[in-house]
Amino acid sequence: MTEQSLPFGYELGEDHALLRDNIREFARTVVAPGAIERDVKGEFPADIVRQLGEMGYMGICFPEEYGGSGMDALASAIVVEELSWADASVGVINSVQNSLVIDPILKFASDEQKQAWLPKMATGQWLNCFSLSEHGSGSDAGAMKCRAELKGDEWHINGTKMWVTNGAEADAILLFVRTEPGDKRNSTCILVEKTTPGLTVGKHEDKLGIRGSSTVELIFENCRVPAWNTVGQRGQGLKIGLTAIDGGRLGIAAQAVGIAQAALDRSVSYALERKQFGKPIADFQAIQWKIADMAVRIAASRALLYKGCWLKGLNKHSLHIPAMAKLFAAETASFCANQAIQIFGGMGYCREGEVERYLRDAKITEIYEGTSEMQRMTIGETLSHDPARVAATEK
Ligand SMILES: Cc1cc2nc3c(=O)[nH]c(=O)nc-3n(C[C@H](O)[C@H](O)[C@H](O)COP(=O)(O)OP(=O)(O)OC[C@H]3O[C@@H](n4cnc5c(N)ncnc54)[C@H](O)[C@@H]3O)c2cc1C
Repeated sequence: MTEQSLPFGYELGEDHALLRDNIREFARTVVAPGAIERDVKGEFPADIVRQLGEMGYMGICFPEEYGGSGMDALASAIVVEELSWADASVGVINSVQNSLVIDPILKFASDEQKQAWLPKMATGQWLNCFSLSEHGSGSDAGAMKCRAELKGDEWHINGTKMWVTNGAEADAILLFVRTEPGDKRNSTCILVEKTTPGLTVGKHEDKLGIRGSSTVELIFENCRVPAWNTVGQRGQGLKIGLTAIDGGRLGIAAQAVGIAQAALDRSVSYALERKQFGKPIADFQAIQWKIADMAVRIAASRALLYKGCWLKGLNKHSLHIPAMAKLFAAETASFCANQAIQIFGGMGYCREGEVERYLRDAKITEIYEGTSEMQRMTIGETLSHDPARVAATEK
């Protein structure tokens, strides 16, 4: 598959359509059946992640020379959307692996590092996590306190990271640490293997949604990591982290589109089945309008998402399009999940109706990888202060 097999249109090319059909089949037959049970139990889908690795979906976006699938950003978005339709937890596990870790390694790591790490990541032998946030630094990522000191040829890392998706199960952590005390912008990106002494997994968050994905604290106590594991240049950490999140926004937009589409599909089926006043509720205009509003927003979200993927495939770095895609898709997911509950009535409010999960899962897409407020800031600032960048991506 070539980088640009997608024209920016509304019909997928043959390769992407085939990929969508394959991953959809897997999502609906293998992922969907246990999704509710995993949500109730807060259970990580280890077996599904293993199968995704074996099928090449855990390293979808990088070159075949490193054992990857050699596909593009659109392929990655299609995979995350289809998985999230079935289970948004599986969607984010996949998105973190591909967008937040593999992507920056491809961009910033040395050839030797890529040779050493990427084949394990491509096959899913290594599950990855991305660790930037701390208790005191979320939106303001530069305020991080976790620090590393270079002693000889080793980093000595001390501090606590928070909210790490995949953190409990991951084999490799893309970690961001302060390396020059007092200089807010000076941080460094280091790949840490989970088995490194001095690293422990702390608190597991008990969450509202995406309960099948783990979210944990990582504690570093004099954790010693070879200086060789530095990704990019010393002092480049924040740049690498924020670049990764720019790409990761497309993954979260895809997750949100998947949740929204699932809410719509369930709503249409239920509206045709459920009868009140002697006819299916789908015959009432009030219900049809809800379905129409959901469908319009999903189509618009997907169009923005595909545009972001298309730009990424062309190596045109856009800040505002991925931000727009994530913002609009996240709000669409919450909107659609809310509408689905309304269409299901009392059944929608109960677990038995199996749609309340969509609302709980949708909410996180408005928070992680940049809150909706931060997306609006990015869009507003780019449009106001960076017209050249906007023009380059709007041709
Ligand atoms: C389930 C889950 C998984 C996560 N996974 C990861 C992960 O894998 N790796 C990782 O590093 N992090 C992860 N995070 C952290 C996540 O990215 C942060 O929660 C998010 O960036 C917001 O930071 P915060 O929670 O500190 O909120 P804050 O930054 O404290 O924001 C609180 C509120 O203030 C608003 N706000 C803040 N600054 C501004 C401003 N300048 N202007 C206007 N409004 C503002 C925010 O929009 C928000 O509404 C995860 C979080 C959760 C809940």
